[in-house]
Amino acid sequence: MVADKGKENHQASDQHDVLKSTQTVIHLALDKLGYSQEVYELLKEPVRMLTVKIPVRMDDGKVKVFTGYRAQHNDAVGPTKGGIRFHPNVTEKEVKALSIWMSLKCGIVDLPYGGGKGGIICDPRDMSFRELERLSRGYVRAISQIVGPSKDIPAPDVFTNSQIMAWMMDEYSRIDEYNSPGFITGKPLVLGGSHGRETATAKGVTICIHEAAKKKGIKLKGARVVVQGFGNAGSFLAKFMHDAGAKVIGISDAYGGLHDKDGLDIDYLLDRRDSFGTVTKLFNNTITNEELLELDCDILVPAAIENQITEKNAHNIRASIVVEAANGPTTLEATKILTERGILLVPDVLASSGGVTVSYFEWVQNNQGYYWSEEEVEEKLEKILVSSFNNVYETSQSRRVDMRLAAYMVGVRKMAEACRFRGWI
Ligand code: NAD
Repeated sequence: MVADKGKENHQASDQHDVLKSTQTVIHLALDKLGYSQEVYELLKEPVRMLTVKIPVRMDDGKVKVFTGYRAQHNDAVGPTKGGIRFHPNVTEKEVKALSIWMSLKCGIVDLPYGGGKGGIICDPRDMSFRELERLSRGYVRAISQIVGPSKDIPAPDVFTNSQIMAWMMDEYSRIDEYNSPGFITGKPLVLGGSHGRETATAKGVTICIHEAAKKKGIKLKGARVVVQGFGNAGSFLAKFMHDAGAKVIGISDAYGGLHDKDGLDIDYLLDRRDSFGTVTKLFNNTITNEELLELDCDILVPAAIENQITEKNAHNIRASIVVEAANGPTTLEATKILTERGILLVPDVLASSGGVTVSYFEWVQNNQGYYWSEEEVEEKLEKILVSSFNNVYETSQSRRVDMRLAAYMVGVRKMAEACRFRGWI
């Protein structure tokens, strides 16, 4: 289980200190909005960070003790919300940074949540199904006092999936002595999951691409699109672009890229890709990921890993629009270069917020006990993301700041206001 091994390329975030760069932009955003240093002091780190030890009886009879974290960035707006990551490279710093990103995303799409994030240092690829179940249940027991449907609502993230969410929901329901589907999102449909959750991130990215293309006067039909990464986010996105009449002229995975200026056969590639998000190994005429990013195209979507567009290659990017489906693919220096060159950059905290939006829908459906069709979910997602995109775009235009800073300004404002009304600052 946890078959999505393509995520093995997830890198230790300490390599480029995501916490520090997030804090830099939050500071700038609060400055622009006229908030005091005290607000920054409150928002620069999670208000709560729990470290837990989880003893798990392994299949060989020995007990292994795992370390886990749960960060709650800010709960002024409402309960915190964010995924749980199972990965050997999980660090306290990374979990903190990711919880702040969740707060920003929730602010940008205007959800009644603050951000949270969890992680366990483990390698699920080396664990059996039952060991993973025991670890998942043990984690819930360890954090149960600070989570709950109106306190902090977890979800899947790297190397966790709907089965793990199901075990966690079951464990919490036992502790709580109530059936508590609203405790966690990303569940299987039969346990109160939502339609549209699996493709929500790619759908959200697609909506942002439609809006960005309108601003740039680019018609999606026939537009040349390049997607880096062919995993969950990238492959669904390539399919949605292809179905919208765009020409997907380049895709890549960890081993290289494929390029055809007349458009790749996306359905064929989807059919041939493995569960690792790998497909390029089947072909001879591959290009490197570096070459892929610099292809002449209209829309470039980094949907793989961090730090792909840096000050080294930002001058060579030929797309008119860059939409960040991945978390942190563009450095702050590169953001500046792209913006100065007139390239419209749609930042990660906006572009990849479709996932948390549909997670919110799942929680709402659980709370009301009434479930929506896939069409209803899609319609509601579109409405929220179109309005969020335009809010960020207009902020960027009126305040003359780049789209990343504009997104952070929109993202922190509601949180800062909620803290002020509560009398915290
Ligand atoms: P995934 O593991 O399913 O796929 C990752 C893809 O990137 C694979 O095709 C892999 O081969 C490729 N890749 C890995 N290392 C690479 C490298 N060095 N160069 C080029 N390609 C490489 O992951 P995913 O779920 O699609 O997530 C991709 C990105 O999108 C991540 O940054 C993730 O945090 C972000 N994201 C995903 C979701 C989601 O719902 N899946 C939500 C929000 C953000």
